[in-house]
Amino acid sequence: MTRVLVVEDDPQLVRALKINLQARKFDVEEASDGSTALRLAAARKPDVIVLDLGLPDMDGIEVIKGVRSSSKVPILVLSARHTSEDKIRALDAGADDYVTKPFSMDELLARLRAATRRQAEPAQRADDVTVITTDEFSIDLLAKKVRRGDRAVRLTPTEWHLLEILVTHPGHLVTQRQLLLEVWGPTYSENTNYLRVYMAQLRRKLEADPSHPRYLITEPGMGYRFEP
Ligand code: CA
Repeated sequence: MTRVLVVEDDPQLVRALKINLQARKFDVEEASDGSTALRLAAARKPDVIVLDLGLPDMDGIEVIKGVRSSSKVPILVLSARHTSEDKIRALDAGADDYVTKPFSMDELLARLRAATRRQAEPAQRADDVTVITTDEFSIDLLAKKVRRGDRAVRLTPTEWHLLEILVTHPGHLVTQRQLLLEVWGPTYSENTNYLRVYMAQLRRKLEADPSHPRYLITEPGMGYRFEP
């Protein structure tokens, strides 16, 4: 049974989440503030945490940082905040994904399943996967080779580095800042135009219809996601 810690101070939403999660065989624990959340996260070791960012005693970002100091448990953020800046702060602090309120229960459950699946399938971890295959292209991470059908695709080192980060986090939103820091370094962490240029090049090389990408998805204002 998957154990989920729900951190939310709105009792109505907690009730709705509990009913829906229990109906799908999740074992639900709840915390209505940040300090209870940190205590339960440490004591009960949940399989996944659903976390509201607006809590009565502290900012949800602080809860993420506190949990991340000792655990890699997937954290799915619930945010009523509409600015992408808050979501990016949450992701950069170590959250795995987010759902914006109001959300549909189906959407939440789908994200929850994706987050726990990523955790549960060690074969999908970056260290173990050596070849990633889609209907359009295949990527050999060890040989650093990309093929489309029967022909090799040539990538520049920068294109390769970007692609490698995205495909080793399948289904996961990687923020612009994370990509810029890893590929170009701290001096360039604001140069989002680099990302636009290089992502466009990658799509031209890998996507059947580069203007309507199927695999290399833009999350406007936030980052990019590889959809396997
Ligand atoms: Ca709240």
